[in-house]
This record gives sequence, C-alpha cells and structure tokens, in this order.
Amino acid sequence: MAPLGRGRSVRGTEKGKNRVSKDKGTGRRTLVAGNWKMNLNHLEAIALVQKIAFDLKPAELETVEVVVIPPFTDLRSVQTLVDGDKLALGYGGQDLSPHGSGAHTGDISGPLLAKLGCSYVVVGHSERRADHHEDDAQVAAKAKAAYAAGITPILCVGEVEEIRAAGTHVEHVLGQLAGSLAGITAEQAATIVIAYEPVWAIGTGRTASAQDAQDMCAAVRGQLARLYGDEVAAGIRVLYGGSVKAANAGELFTMPDVDGGLVGGASLVAEEFVGIVRSGPPA
Ligand code: PEP
Repeated sequence: MAPLGRGRSVRGTEKGKNRVSKDKGTGRRTLVAGNWKMNLNHLEAIALVQKIAFDLKPAELETVEVVVIPPFTDLRSVQTLVDGDKLALGYGGQDLSPHGSGAHTGDISGPLLAKLGCSYVVVGHSERRADHHEDDAQVAAKAKAAYAAGITPILCVGEVEEIRAAGTHVEHVLGQLAGSLAGITAEQAATIVIAYEPVWAIGTGRTASAQDAQDMCAAVRGQLARLYGDEVAAGIRVLYGGSVKAANAGELFTMPDVDGGLVGGASLVAEEFVGIVRSGPPA
C-alpha cells in the first residue's frame, strides 16, 4: 500500500472516497480519530503509532479509517514513521490558523500542516472554543483555511450540560453547525467530517447513550441536508466523541448515523484505541 500523506491514499480526503462496501449499509466508511490533545512528546508519539499500526491487521485498516491527531511538535516524527514504514494510518493537526501565513506568532497554518502530510485538521473543538473563545465565525474561517490548504476539517460541535438540561441541545448544536459552516460550499462539505461531542461527556467518563448519540447525529445529518441537499448529507461522516472507550464503542458505532468516533483519553493507550477500532464493522 502507498504511504499515506496528503493527496495520497487516505480515504475521505477526496469526494466520494469515504464510501466503501463494508459498512452498515450507509456507504460511509467508519472513521476513528485519536485526539491526543497536549499529550505525548515526539518519541512517545513514535512508540504509540508503531504499536497501533503493528497491532491492527491490514484488513482492519481497510475497513476502518484510523487517524491520529498528535500535538504539532510530533507531526514531523509521525510523518517520517508513516511514510518510511508505509503505514496505513492517517494523521492530522489539532487546530490551524485562519490565515495562510504571516505575522501570527505561535499559530500554525494550513500550508504548514499540508507540507507535513496532514490529511485532517480539527476545528472548533470545545476546548478551543472555551480556552481561546473561538466562536462559530472563527471556526468557519478555520474550516475554509483547511480547504484552501487541501486538508479535510473535522468540525466539532456539542452542547454544555446546562443546555442539555434545559432541553435546547438540538437547536443549539444545529445553530453551531450552521454558523461553523458559513461560507463552506456543497462541494467542500461533501468531504467534511462532523464530530458531535457533548461537552459534558468529554474527559468525564460519562458517555452519551447510544440512542442520544444517534438522535443528535441524525439531527446533524438533517441540518446538513437542509444546508447542502440530501445526497451530500448522506455521504458526510458524523462522528460521536465524549469518553468513547473499547467497552462502549461497539454500541455507539452500530447506530445508523454514527460513523465512528473522535477519541481523546482512550486514544493515548494503544490497546484501548485498537479495541475501539475493532468495534467498527468487521474486517
Ligand atoms: C475529545 O477530546 O475530543 C474527546 C472526545 O475526549 P475524551 O474521549 O477523553 O472524552
């Protein structure tokens, strides 16, 4: 198999390439993406990627698309390993600047990520929305910057606990989604990945029930259909994120509108992450 870098064989980066025959009948290939957050140095990154890649069988990596999202400082090491050993794993960045280059100290641009072979970049993660006060307009600008660099955004939306308790979570998430997709064309949206991540479930050990995850992912798909039409919406992968582990991934991933997971804490432990990947459709 060819090494996986930008524009090479990671599926999901080109229109229609996220469709496979081995699935739940949806035509959408399951995606499991590990968001390492601010954990693991570049040496630890190499060890973890090696373990994940060598534990998973080629057939499993064909069926489920597996992506790691390390800190920026690890990306060059991950690229070298993935390219050198021709690993069937994708990788991406946790954030990017809305600008392509220039006087933006501390920021990382889409072209810099693309040069490192990143296929994906996370935009709008709740930790960035909270810690860096990123609003939907900024998230949309980042998604556009990702497309400009040829990188697929993994766009995160999700409600805090108070909003869920108030019963307005669906309209809140759909509003976030529409705002964060402002200016994104249907052609671009056809390749996007949406991650529904209830904030109250992130890093807490509290997972949404499979039915709650399904209900929101279906509502997200409905909003995508209103924005881009039924055909585009039917091809977009919608992930669930929030305390996904090997023990609960199977039930979540069998839900018809849940196309995989964005995984935080459990993606730092090879056995756990591999267990989550194995919860996808059988190879
Ligand atoms: C995340 O950071 O996107 C996430 C879902 O974290 P965790 O799996 O640890 O809840």
